[in-house]
Amino acid sequence: MRTHVIDHPLVAHKLTNLRDEKTDSPTFRRLVDQLVTLLAYEATRDVRVGPVDIVTPVGPTSGVRLTDPQPLVVPILRAGLGMLDGMMRLLPTAEVGFLGMVRNEETLEASTYAERLPDDLSGRQCYVLDPMLATGGTLVAAINFLLDRGADDITAIALLAAPEGLAVVEKAFGSSPVPVHVVTAGLDERLNDQGYIVPGLGDAGDRLYGVV
Ligand code: URA
Repeated sequence: MRTHVIDHPLVAHKLTNLRDEKTDSPTFRRLVDQLVTLLAYEATRDVRVGPVDIVTPVGPTSGVRLTDPQPLVVPILRAGLGMLDGMMRLLPTAEVGFLGMVRNEETLEASTYAERLPDDLSGRQCYVLDPMLATGGTLVAAINFLLDRGADDITAIALLAAPEGLAVVEKAFGSSPVPVHVVTAGLDERLNDQGYIVPGLGDAGDRLYGVV
């Protein structure tokens, strides 16, 4: 499994503003959108392309285009929705599938409450969007869901990750025959007793959409 922690001053600047408790929801949403586009640039480094011949106004040349089947972007509801537009800006021809996962705040176990995904994901590259890789339970469950449907290359994009969560994902997929990657803007110190990332940014869903 490959984990990539993006080291870029612009990403660090936006992440700092995102973490700040004084950042309001509209600004938080805008920063998430911008950060995801920056992370998506790295996360799509191995997106599949094939050669094509084209003609420019000046003459013929060859280039590459994304191959079919197009990549599948899978935001984990609810907080992953805040990352969707930023991702689709970079991959406008991708398809989108949805996975609703909720974690039990006492056991921290993740369970699926909704899904809208193709039945057959054979040959698909999948990009899972979940802002917080905390205990890793949600991400492991989501990746297993996609693997069960035949996905053959999975990259998770998280704004922040905790070492404990990364270890859980590494343990689950470290020797998986299907490539699994994690791209994140920051690797934080630890999880607290409630399963929140420290220093983190609080509850990403609440900060994006308010407390429901
Ligand atoms: N989910 C969040 O929204 N924040 C955390 O810190 C951990 C899980």
